[in-house]
Amino acid sequence: MNRAVFLDRDGVINQVILKEGIPCSPRTIKELILNDGIADFLAQTRKAGFLNIVFTNQPDIARGLMDTGNLQGIHDFLLKNLAIDDIYLCPHDDADNCLCRKPKAGMLIEAARKWDINLNSSFVVGDQHKDAQAGKAAGCTTILLDFPYNKNAECDCRSDCLRSALEFITCS
Ligand SMILES: [Mg+2]
Ligand SMILES: [Zn+2]
Repeated sequence: MNRAVFLDRDGVINQVILKEGIPCSPRTIKELILNDGIADFLAQTRKAGFLNIVFTNQPDIARGLMDTGNLQGIHDFLLKNLAIDDIYLCPHDDADNCLCRKPKAGMLIEAARKWDINLNSSFVVGDQHKDAQAGKAAGCTTILLDFPYNKNAECDCRSDCLRSALEFITCS
């Protein structure tokens, strides 16, 4: 079986766009700014034998605020330029009551089936409580990157930077 690092997108792969303190998603490729060190992080986890799988809630699709073509453009760019094996996307909002929207574990379970992943020996790296909740529900070890907006969120390990998250993963 494979091991994976499951990565949230906004806040982990790319910077969030803060609107009145609330982290929001880039809606076009022009708004996409990669996080410092993410290319190296992904290269290192791949080298250590992990699959890198992005899992992201994009409710702006359900809300009609974002065009699916723009979203696909961003994801094509990420798959082409970073060591990412797959991207799972929840385009729904709470009212849809789907199984994929974090904090539910649907995307992780689907990815585990497709890629033959042992969830118990895999990691989730996120920036919000719901990322850690989804990871916990799937049986993964959860890491949150430190941000002012996630101070009260629970997780297995809190990292102040991608480098320390990488050390935690590769030394576990
Ligand atoms: Mg996020
Ligand atoms: Zn969904």
